[in-house]
Amino acid sequence: MSERQWEGKPPSAVLISGGSGFIGSHLVRRLLEIGSKVICIDNLLTGRRKNVLELDESERFTFLEADVCNPIEPGLLEGVEWVLHLASPASPGKSPVSYMSLPFETLAAGSKGTWNMLEAARIADARFLLASTSEVYGDPEVNPQPESYWGNVNPVGPRSVYDEAKRFGEALAMAYHREKGLDVKIARIFNTYGPRMRPDDGRVVSNMVVQAIRGEPLTVYGDGSQTRSFCYIDDMVEGLLRLASSEHIGPMNLGSAEEFTVLELAELVREMVPEAGGIHFAPLPPDDPKQRRPDIALAKRVLGWSPRVRLREGLSKTIAWYRQEIGEGLSG
Ligand code: NAD
Ligand code: UDP
Repeated sequence: MSERQWEGKPPSAVLISGGSGFIGSHLVRRLLEIGSKVICIDNLLTGRRKNVLELDESERFTFLEADVCNPIEPGLLEGVEWVLHLASPASPGKSPVSYMSLPFETLAAGSKGTWNMLEAARIADARFLLASTSEVYGDPEVNPQPESYWGNVNPVGPRSVYDEAKRFGEALAMAYHREKGLDVKIARIFNTYGPRMRPDDGRVVSNMVVQAIRGEPLTVYGDGSQTRSFCYIDDMVEGLLRLASSEHIGPMNLGSAEEFTVLELAELVREMVPEAGGIHFAPLPPDDPKQRRPDIALAKRVLGWSPRVRLREGLSKTIAWYRQEIGEGLSG
């Protein structure tokens, strides 16, 4: 694995928001592995303390239960070279932790939270990375989506609290770059999955894997013909590290270029989890994007990055983790 891992100079200290969430908890581990000091700010709104609890043993790890919507204590910024802003609810699903259930918190994390993290980067003279999203493209009319596509977003629909907060965050980050010379990277993250995404998160991979392990039918919204491209978490962490350490300014897509229909995903999960039930079709939520696949030419060219883990392999690791997590044994 080492020849494909980023081997640049590790930042001496990193401030990360949302570090006890799904993606954040993997990124924090990788940063500690490469020798950085990590200060994690998380209010545990959608993340879980247990995701990073064992990391307390490292003297290079600091966990602060705090809301990024409050200004960042300047005392935390000593030696910080990278500021990574991941804090935000992230799931559109039917769940108490989805951004649909947390509209004001989502708008605040994307606006006030991004502003505070940008200020922290400016004060620390650090580089800044925003965890943005493929949702800035809305329900895209071009496929795959390059960074130059401006998107097709409903600004007042139920997904707008997330989409517009991220679009605002991108605009704010670029204003900091133009007006204050801040070194700004915007990762447009496409559907990412893997261990430590909470079982009740509401997103498609966690929903289907948990349903399958419990022997329940898998819920497919609509007729399942809508597409997504699923990136395994290890590949995403590698892409984020490479982007953070690069000289690139502005947005960059990170995600898998392999596109599947939701029905194909359901069939694959059923094949891999023998006790899974059948398929239950449920209504398609409003404004659910019909297609989504990143154009990753920019990441390939600038970072030398593309995902390595195929869906079946990533799902296999994910299924093993969920079996343990939901306490149903490791058989099957
Ligand atoms: P997650 O919900 O597991 O993690 C988000 C973390 O942010 C949680 O730990 C949560 O407690 C924390 N948080 C939320 N609001 C906060 C606040 N105001 N102050 C401090 N902490 C706060 O979600 P994730 O999937 O790990 O997503 C991480 C980031 O990546 C998000 O910004 C999300 O928008 C972005 N993203 C993720 C995906 C994906 O497929 N997982 C896709 C696109 C973008
Ligand atoms: N979806 C589904 N069943 C579920 C959860 C989601 O069919 O239990 C569908 C959803 O309608 C969407 C796709 O799977 O078309 C991906 O949904 P997810 O919530 O993971 O994220 P999105 O890509 O929509 O942001």
